[in-house]
Amino acid sequence: MLDDRLLFEKSVVGRTGIRPPVPDVPLVKPSDLLPATLIREDIEGFPELSEIDLSRHYTALSSLNFGIDTGMYPLGSCTMKYNPKVNEDIASLKGFTAIHPYMPDSLVQGALKVICELEELLKEITGMDAVSVHPSAGAQGELCGMLMLASYFKDRGEDKRKKIIIPDTAHGTNPASSALAGFSVVPVKTDKSGILSAEAIREVMDEETAALMLTNPNTLGLFETNIKEIADIVHEKGGLIYCDGANLNAIMGLAKLGDMGVDIVQLNLHKTFSTPHGGGGPGSGPIGVTAELEPYLPVPRVIKNENGTLSLTTDRPNSIGRLRAFYGQFLVLVKAYSYIRRLGGEGLTKVSETAILNANYLKEGLRGTFDIPFDRACMHECVVTDKLQLEESGVSTMDIAKRLIDYGFHPPTIYFPLVVSGAMMIEPTETESLQSIDELVRVMKLVSKEAKEDPQTVKSAPHRAPRKRIDETAAARNPVLRWREEA
Ligand SMILES: *Cc1c(COP(=O)(O)O)cnc(C)c1O
Repeated sequence: MLDDRLLFEKSVVGRTGIRPPVPDVPLVKPSDLLPATLIREDIEGFPELSEIDLSRHYTALSSLNFGIDTGMYPLGSCTMKYNPKVNEDIASLKGFTAIHPYMPDSLVQGALKVICELEELLKEITGMDAVSVHPSAGAQGELCGMLMLASYFKDRGEDKRKKIIIPDTAHGTNPASSALAGFSVVPVKTDKSGILSAEAIREVMDEETAALMLTNPNTLGLFETNIKEIADIVHEKGGLIYCDGANLNAIMGLAKLGDMGVDIVQLNLHKTFSTPHGGGGPGSGPIGVTAELEPYLPVPRVIKNENGTLSLTTDRPNSIGRLRAFYGQFLVLVKAYSYIRRLGGEGLTKVSETAILNANYLKEGLRGTFDIPFDRACMHECVVTDKLQLEESGVSTMDIAKRLIDYGFHPPTIYFPLVVSGAMMIEPTETESLQSIDELVRVMKLVSKEAKEDPQTVKSAPHRAPRKRIDETAAARNPVLRWREEA
């Protein structure tokens, strides 16, 4: 393990990395401008470093980071696919980076065109009637959709619809977004084969329910084959279907959510459309809706004028308003636009087909070594468990995940979805080659073999990381975000 001193405690009193030029103008003394009580002689605990110390410090930190450019990152549901660098080049063009949100519409026609065309492309991909790229993340898109639902039912005099049905496989943001928008959550169980049955929905659907919020393919990586029948049941009772579209990776060009009876969907550009994510953002969570819900979309909207120019408008009386400043995570939109345009419809279809093929290939590779709880063809991700290893040698999913770090892999998503005990949810994505998937399978089998022969090594992993097993709760509750002089 790396000594903390090497990583952080590099400050030496009096050391400096800068030599400011001798000023050639008269100096203003701080005391001429500020009262003496506000002037600091010294900044307590401020690190003092030379340029080389600083340079090495950040370079060392960056090399501790694991990213998709470092190795395979099969984090299920999060879709950590490779982000083509050409998208970065396009997003860094001066015409995109040197504009300001307060510039008049007449000077940013190109930027408005990107927004407008991206919304059109996403309409085509999802089969929805209207799209807004305003929300900043998947969860914000969900909240946006829930607020639109609330407004929609209020306008129809159906305020009594206060319930949202959510399957037990749902991403945690789903119930959170529903609650934040004032709804109560009605949980519904997936059936033995890992999907929703029409019967289960028929049982809970009533006139006080605003919507069913589901993910398709769901977080077990399985396609909800009963979706059309389920949508009919919900619609018959006056409710709507909200689809969490974060997993669109699996169905682009193969199926349209609009055709499945979906009324509202959010997409995650930072997953499906290869814009970088992790470490907190920036994301983008466009929202797509049917024509009936279009008036409720957030503002501003880009509209086409009669003379062919584009404008931003906030003049939309039924809109839920703004969820953030300006019109969305603009440079992220540019990257997604570049990605979609470069691949085209055929390319995007190939992306989904390859993502599905890779996940099924991976699942078959793990067969016999790991328990497969829902044994059927999967979509873009597969779920296996630690059942066999736990029974045989007490080695758990956590241990296996930590051991994978030693072999250069980012661990898959673990202990999620919650309905599967000891879940490892693995998403190879379409950007991994046959060789890298084979390598993951080889390493996972190796770890399983180690679990049998030398369980202690697996249980005490990772051995090659600068940190072992941190107290994740403490790290989240009491984060140390800046350097402090040692007491
Ligand atoms: C990632 C994800 C979300 C949340 O998206 P964020 O952009 O992280 O807010 C919601 N649902 C599913 C299924 C996801 O995978």
